[in-house]
Parts: sequence; C-alpha cells; structure tokens
Amino acid sequence: MAFFGTNGVRGIANDYITPQLAVDVAKSLGTYMGSKGTIAIGRDTRMSGEMLKSAAIAGALSAGLTVIDLGTAPVPAVQYYVRDHADAGIMITASHNPREYNGIKLIAGDGSEFSREGESEVEKIYYSKQFASANWDRTGDLRTANDANEYYIQGVIDHVDAENIRGKRLKVVADTGCGAGSVTLPFMLQRLGCEVITINAQLDGTFPWRNPEPTPDVLTELAEIVRITGADMGVAQDGDADRAVFVDENGDFIDEEVLLAMMAKYILSLEKGVIVTPVSSSQRMADIAKEAGVELIWTAVGSINVARKMMETDAVFGGEGNGGLIFPKHQYCRDGGMACAKLLEIIAAGTTLSEFAKSVPLYFNSKTKTVCEDLKDTMERVTATVLEGTEKVDTTDGVKIWYDDGWVLIRPSGTEPIVRIFAESKTKASAEELMLEGLELVEKCK
Ligand code: MG
Repeated sequence: MAFFGTNGVRGIANDYITPQLAVDVAKSLGTYMGSKGTIAIGRDTRMSGEMLKSAAIAGALSAGLTVIDLGTAPVPAVQYYVRDHADAGIMITASHNPREYNGIKLIAGDGSEFSREGESEVEKIYYSKQFASANWDRTGDLRTANDANEYYIQGVIDHVDAENIRGKRLKVVADTGCGAGSVTLPFMLQRLGCEVITINAQLDGTFPWRNPEPTPDVLTELAEIVRITGADMGVAQDGDADRAVFVDENGDFIDEEVLLAMMAKYILSLEKGVIVTPVSSSQRMADIAKEAGVELIWTAVGSINVARKMMETDAVFGGEGNGGLIFPKHQYCRDGGMACAKLLEIIAAGTTLSEFAKSVPLYFNSKTKTVCEDLKDTMERVTATVLEGTEKVDTTDGVKIWYDDGWVLIRPSGTEPIVRIFAESKTKASAEELMLEGLELVEKCK
C-alpha cells in the first residue's frame, strides 16, 4: 500500500502516526517545495492533533518554510485559506476514521487536494530521508492566524443567496460531532439568520457521543431533535467537516446519492454546464444531466479526480455520493459548510427537503464483496471477459457495465484483498439480480 492513501497518511495516533513521522512528512514537503514559500497548517479536534501539528510545524521550519498556524479548522477552511494566502498546506486529520486514528493530508497551492504525482514525489523524499535542511540563520518563521475560520464562513455566505435565506428565519439542528465543524458551522448558520440548535458542538477529540463518521445509525438524536423542534433541516458533519449529511424536516435521513442528485438538479436550474461525478455514483446523475441537456463526465473514484476534472472542464458542479459536494464558484474541494448553505438556499426558494428529494429519480442499490487473493489478475480477466460482450462498458475505475435497466460496478479494494460489486436499477429485485450477475462473473474469473 502506498504511503499516501486516498486521503493522506492515516493510522493509529502515536503508534504509526508519530511526531517523528509528522516531522519527516513536513520536511519532505519543504524539500519538495525547494525550501521556499509559505504553508498553512490546521488540525481537527483529535487528541493527538496538537502534538502532530507541533511536530509538522517543526519539520517545515527546519526545511526553511514559513508556517502559518491556523489552529483548529475544518479542512475546507484550511483549503480556502491556502488558496488565497499560502503556497501549500498541511491538515492534521483522520477525517471520519475512529477516534484512535490521526493522519496528515497535504493541500496544493490552489487549495485543492495534493495531486497523486505530487504525493509520490513527497513520498520518494520521505523514504530517501534526503531532507533539505535550512542553514542556522535560514530556518523558517512561524506565525499564527486566527481569521481562517471567519474568512471561510464569509466565503460561504458570499456564495449563497444570503438575503433570501435570512428572510426565512429557518430552524436548523446542527450535529458537528465534536469535530472541526464545531468552530464554523453553528456560526455560519447564525450569520444566515437561522435559529440554530447545536448538538455535539464542543471540541472533544474523544468523540464521546458519536463516531466522526456521520452514518444514519449515529444520527438518531439529530433526527429526533429535528422532529421535536419542528426544524426545517438537520445537518451532521464528519470529523473534519468536508462532508455533510442531512435529515429532512421529518427527521428522515437523506441518502447521500439522493443528496448529490438534488444538488446537481438545483445547480443546473441556476446555470447550465458540465457536471462531474465518479463512476460509483447513481444513475440519477445521468438522468438529471440528460434532463438539463448538459454533459456528465464520469471519473475514477476519489474527490481529487472529480475536482481536477471539474477544473479542466470548467464544470458547474461535481461531487461524490458520500456527502462530499464540490461547488467550483467557491472552491475546488469537498465542502460540508457550503453544501449546508446551498441546501438552505433551496429551502428558502420555497420548498422542503423531503419535497425536493422526491423530485429526483428513484433507484435501488445492491452491493456485496468477495475475497480475492490475486486482485490484479482477476480484474484483468473480468475486464477481458466483459470487453468481449455486447454491453456498454466503462473501465475508468474498475469495470462498470451498463444494462438497459441499470448498471453493475466491479472494483478491487485499494487496501484489502477484496473485490466489491455494486449494482443499481429501477427496482430492488433487478438491482439484486445485476449484483448477483456481477458476483458470478468475478467468481468465474478468480
Ligand atoms: Mg472528511
């Protein structure tokens, strides 16, 4: 497994993710940057956050970089700050992973996620231990900035119809899960004229009340409070607040694929243009693009692939079906705060979330996984087999086969000897059937 996974380096804090590792990653970044420039650094609320941030700062200063310490901030706030005020960034976070984890994520100078190529260069330096080391009179300067979160909140507000939202005095329940969103989301909602009820909004890296991953099963309190208080919406963020999920005014969880489609539909009602999503996303996106008469581009799985393709094609919207939505007018990264503000804009325009959710096409999903020892060979045989057939096939990431009534996606795991099979169709039964066909194909090719 590569040193940098899908979302930076991750592992158990002070076990795999040690201060020494943080020093060396920051030194590697400084070496990669030619010992020149300024980086901004932020952290989520994890217990080891201060320890690892301090270590990363020391490494960067040693390599000769100037460092701006942003303190506790959501990833999208750090990304927004880096875009306008620094040459790169470091975020100390393990996002939605369980409490004992932490990690390090690099941010590119334009505020987007670090490219895979960039990461592999930094990784080479990390393993070579050939770090640039500034002369005694050239070690870097450290500054702190206390305005990154405010700068981000204002950025979000500037990109929605704030006046209309304020006029509606919406009631919102916000569950920031004791994570980094606690320092921005309640304040942003307040500034948008909302009546805000917060839960889990104290900064606590032990995540005492729920996992940092906002799955429906840990959001029962949120749903209940929305029902009791008659709120217009409930919002929950993951540990570093780049993703947000929602419950509607009835307290019902909005499936993330439905959320993605709702937002695509809304954005396309404002302006026409390309939309971008990974091959794992729902057919709803294709239906919505078709209805609006715009192009939909499928990418490999991973928000960075979506963001880069959006930049290339000047897309108007993109995102993943996990609550990671990207609004290019604001910035090219997943942004939970922006997603929340945009949903408020939708409600303020005169609908309810449950009503709007019903306006996107209905699909059903089915998924399974199977253990597979030689992933590469198996996937090659799967690809060869389907390419011989007559179905429409996409090999952007894994193998996706389109049928008249749906699709099946066969993807190897990046971290385990497992092949995952996802299917989607207009009925539960046919989704199940497509999934079983996919499974059978993989079993035959093992
Ligand atoms: Mg996250």
